[in-house]
Amino acid sequence: MVNSGGRLSAEGRKDQLEQMASKQLDVLVIGGGITGAGILWDAGLRGMSAGLVEKSDFASGTSSRSTKLIHGGLRYLARGEIGLVREVGSERMLLHERLPHLVEPLPVLLPIYRGGKYGFLSTSLGIALYDRLAGVKPEDRRRMYRRGETLMMEPLLRPEGLLGAGVYMEYRTDDARLTIEIIKSAARNGAHVCHYAEVTDLLYRNGRAAGVRVRDRLSGDTYALYARKIVNAAGPWADQIRRLDQSSEPGRLLLSKGVHLVVARERLPIGKAVYFDAPDRRMVFAIPRGNKTYIGTTETIYEGDAGEPSATVRDAEYLLDAVNRVFPAVRLQLSDIESAWAGVRPLIREPGKALSDISRKDEIFVSPSGLISIAGGKLTGFRKMAAKVVDLIARQLEDETGVIYPPCTTDRSPISGGPPFEPSRGASEQRSGAGTGEQDDGGDARDSFMRQAVRRGIAQEEAAGLWTRYGWNAHEILQYFDDLGTDNGGRRDDDRAGKRLLLAELGYSMDREMTVRVADFLSRRTGWMIFDRERAELVSGDVIAYMSRRLGWDDARVEREWSELLRERRSYTVQD
Ligand SMILES: Cc1cc2nc3c(=O)[nH]c(=O)nc-3n(C[C@H](O)[C@H](O)[C@H](O)COP(=O)(O)OP(=O)(O)OC[C@H]3O[C@@H](n4cnc5c(N)ncnc54)[C@H](O)[C@@H]3O)c2cc1C
Repeated sequence: MVNSGGRLSAEGRKDQLEQMASKQLDVLVIGGGITGAGILWDAGLRGMSAGLVEKSDFASGTSSRSTKLIHGGLRYLARGEIGLVREVGSERMLLHERLPHLVEPLPVLLPIYRGGKYGFLSTSLGIALYDRLAGVKPEDRRRMYRRGETLMMEPLLRPEGLLGAGVYMEYRTDDARLTIEIIKSAARNGAHVCHYAEVTDLLYRNGRAAGVRVRDRLSGDTYALYARKIVNAAGPWADQIRRLDQSSEPGRLLLSKGVHLVVARERLPIGKAVYFDAPDRRMVFAIPRGNKTYIGTTETIYEGDAGEPSATVRDAEYLLDAVNRVFPAVRLQLSDIESAWAGVRPLIREPGKALSDISRKDEIFVSPSGLISIAGGKLTGFRKMAAKVVDLIARQLEDETGVIYPPCTTDRSPISGGPPFEPSRGASEQRSGAGTGEQDDGGDARDSFMRQAVRRGIAQEEAAGLWTRYGWNAHEILQYFDDLGTDNGGRRDDDRAGKRLLLAELGYSMDREMTVRVADFLSRRTGWMIFDRERAELVSGDVIAYMSRRLGWDDARVEREWSELLRERRSYTVQD
């Protein structure tokens, strides 16, 4: 087994908190989204003792509610943010190489209409420039198509006014799984983590932020955790943490909400992802994913609780209207929506600018108490953001303690779930390997895994799903599957193999990914609550039964899990 994550077991939560409480850490991170996860991973790799607390499940904030793209930054190009295009381009190559099962190429078609935002020539030149800046591999570079070819590729596109299309490359991911794999990578290097652990207060020594008070939301116990450096990576809640820190002036952040809708692929049967103009000239994606297509996003100022954003009928109507104008034959309706999600993005206020014009750049604020806050940014740039924060911490610790920490090595370190990786080969060397086709893109490893799974009676589709979710760690799940034994006398029994596989995945998830609630598994470990609601409903009884047996839940707790599951289900539904 390669690159398996550290042991983050459901039963080990309390131990993680107690270990954090038993010593002074170098770094304590508030927030288990991608930003906090990246900082934890980087700090641990540099030899700092590091811990992270998350008030809900890992990635339950914005990091499971994005468009799920590792962007190349075409949009930044339109705003002239050349440096950002270069940076995200190289980051996305690196993530694809390190996690080929989870960061996959996704060709995107950009239809060009008469009177649209961009013409044929500007699209062609724009994508060509983007390809160069973002370091896109020659075989993935832009292709331009005339009207007839475009309609052959995507016959559902509105033909009136269509001039042609450009196709460029994006990368699709699963944001929650990416975050969890980074947390597992950090834990494997010795970092401590605990979820459902909410920071309720900051603790001070001589006026300096020196620790946090944490409430374990599952047991009700409280802990005081101390660290030389406290990092606020609470995403849309960052201002709330800054408010706890009396010394800092909150209000630097503006929250913007984005909504996505999921429909059956057969209701919007597109061959490629399509990125098109909405009537208000904002750009909207329609992205195929398995047997679903998802559509997003809206962008509106959000003033509610960052923990409860929801997709409203108004949001849904905006997106349906945009889709129906570009694909008039599909006539999507509210009743076609199978699920939806809403995410809140913290943006750094830029007075006088329209929401869509505000830069997605990240920014670090250091308050007079020493609290370090990081906000803004993208999933795609998480590693670079983390490096900036940890560089700052390393400089501060060197001044204060004299200890010198090495530079960032996350570009040379394996990630849980990814292929075997030789840290001695530099990142750029590995990248140039990828460019020449020498790098293992996971195809052979996937084929071998599929053969092993199918030999055990696991359906092809199930095996493929496991590989997409867990990559090289999926072999461990086969081990769990074997350990659950076979009693079908060598006969093929899809139902029994299906249930055994479910329990194998759940067992792995509880041992290695700290799954402690049913919704953790159905929403963020597997994604079924969003992309396969029928299955989520079908298996929820088995999942609750297994978890309650293993974790010793009483009837009241089982009841709470059911209502929590219903609440979670509602949150992924369009609300009136
Ligand atoms: C609609 C939308 C689409 C997007 N699409 C993309 C995309 O396709 N590609 C891309 O690269 N980026 C995208 N982004 C941006 C990206 O999703 C975010 O930049 C990223 O997820 C932010 O991660 P984060 O860790 O900073 O915040 P979060 O993921 O929100 O994490 C913050 C965490 O802090 C925790 N927390 C809060 N308060 C406390 C407390 N008191 N104690 C303990 N924990 C606490 C929260 O529970 C939360 O889990 C999108 C954003 C939005 C809104």
